[in-house]
Amino acid sequence: MTVREETTDVAIVGAGNIGLAVAYYLVVRHGVTNVTLVDSGDPMAMTSAQSGENYRNWWPHPTMTAYTDHAIDLLEEIAEASGNRIHMNRRGYALVTRRERPEDLIAELYKGYGDGGTGQIRIHEGGSAAIYHPPISADWKTAPDSVDVIVDRNLIRSHFPSLAPDVATIFHIRRAGDISGQQLGQYMLEAVRNAGGRIKRAAVESIDAGSTFALNLRTTEGQTKLRADRLVNAAGPFFSKVANMLGEDLPLSYIYQQKIAFEDREGAIPRDLPFTIDLDGQELAWTEEEREVLACDPDAALLLRQLPGGVHRRPEGSPDGRWIKLGWAYNTTPGDPEGEPPLDPNYPDVVLRGASRLHPGLRAYLGRLPRGTRHYGGYYAMTPENWPLIGPMRTPGAFMAGALSGFGTMAATATGAVCAAWMTGAELPAYASTLSLDRYADAVLMAELHESASKGVL
Ligand SMILES: Cc1cc2nc3c(=O)[nH]c(=O)nc-3n(C[C@H](O)[C@H](O)[C@H](O)COP(=O)(O)OP(=O)(O)OC[C@H]3O[C@@H](n4cnc5c(N)ncnc54)[C@H](O)[C@@H]3O)c2cc1C
Repeated sequence: MTVREETTDVAIVGAGNIGLAVAYYLVVRHGVTNVTLVDSGDPMAMTSAQSGENYRNWWPHPTMTAYTDHAIDLLEEIAEASGNRIHMNRRGYALVTRRERPEDLIAELYKGYGDGGTGQIRIHEGGSAAIYHPPISADWKTAPDSVDVIVDRNLIRSHFPSLAPDVATIFHIRRAGDISGQQLGQYMLEAVRNAGGRIKRAAVESIDAGSTFALNLRTTEGQTKLRADRLVNAAGPFFSKVANMLGEDLPLSYIYQQKIAFEDREGAIPRDLPFTIDLDGQELAWTEEEREVLACDPDAALLLRQLPGGVHRRPEGSPDGRWIKLGWAYNTTPGDPEGEPPLDPNYPDVVLRGASRLHPGLRAYLGRLPRGTRHYGGYYAMTPENWPLIGPMRTPGAFMAGALSGFGTMAATATGAVCAAWMTGAELPAYASTLSLDRYADAVLMAELHESASKGVL
């Protein structure tokens, strides 16, 4: 039996936010239009459909700050060109702690913003001259820039009245907010299709690499082959699996993270609240009976220990809507994306208890989350240092864009633009080589990243 064969210049495995962004920048920036996206499911239906859709330029290292600043520049370009079809807003991230003037966190902030740090950070303390502008407007064009560090409890109380009274410091990151990742994907897909690009529903089962690539595909009509001059691995949680098809190993693990969304009928979360993160770790309060039940389950026993900081919340949708989202990426155990999604039935209760510490109004939902509450999750594809891998693979003609962890919606644009630039030999931003496999040859950088306490995981 002969296997049907098709050809293309570029085959991209994966049509999530990342594969679509690579195709988009190949088409719009470099005129490479004979592009085929291959996906076994619908576009944007896997990890990209689970995203919290938040963005920020706040990171522990200036390389990640430069990368996400670039991504946000490109998001703003698309928002401008499309009449803000991607629903970009900018209320910022409010990072909250009960610690008085935490000098270590302030130092980390300066480090993360690198050379530009000094001009970026405004400290607000009793009697300081700096004026704090609350997030009155969510408009990304008029919202303030830089970072406000509020160490004045009166200022905190007057602008963030919904927070628990023990909050002592807020870092308000201003170049941050949320977008619609689905609209971004749709916008990019339309541009790719209009330029002649294609999307093919098929599972890539294996790849033969020679002077060109032969992708062996399983479709509903049976086995077919797609020949391509160049290949892009944008397979999200199957990034390592596709690399293995080329005989390559990548240093990734896949960690399942979850979220809940529900209708906040009690109004516990103000509609103009920035994306707000509790930086402090905590031990949850359980009754004796609950402790006994949790202690019997090896997977749940960790909930009895001190949990890390990072529990977050934000209003979802329009100012007159009522939905909110809560999340907490406390899981650190790698899983297997081939298996059933390991949704933890304890998670909604755990995230609610954790988030109630900062927003006591959320306690109203303990044990009685509204009907219709959504509980969902997906895999963070992560390198140990939590930086992405974008650029050439070891196999000539093969490229990759993955390991996007919990930042692939916000960083899709820069990831696509940089991968497309590597593929076409165009000029690369200064940070690009550090986000490729090249960084593993830089022992000094890798030691620094290895030792860094914060990896920017949220
Ligand atoms: C709970 C959660 C919250 C998040 N919150 C945020 C956030 O607030 N902000 C943010 O920026 N990011 C967030 N992220 C991260 C973001 O969602 C991901 O980084 C991003 O969606 C990854 O996109 P992707 O295209 O790499 O992967 P995916 O969207 O998973 O796409 C990969 C595609 O490859 C296809 N594929 C894989 N293997 C094959 C094969 N062999 N053959 C054919 N097709 C194949 C799959 O079908 C899939 O469609 C979050 C993630 C999770 C899980």
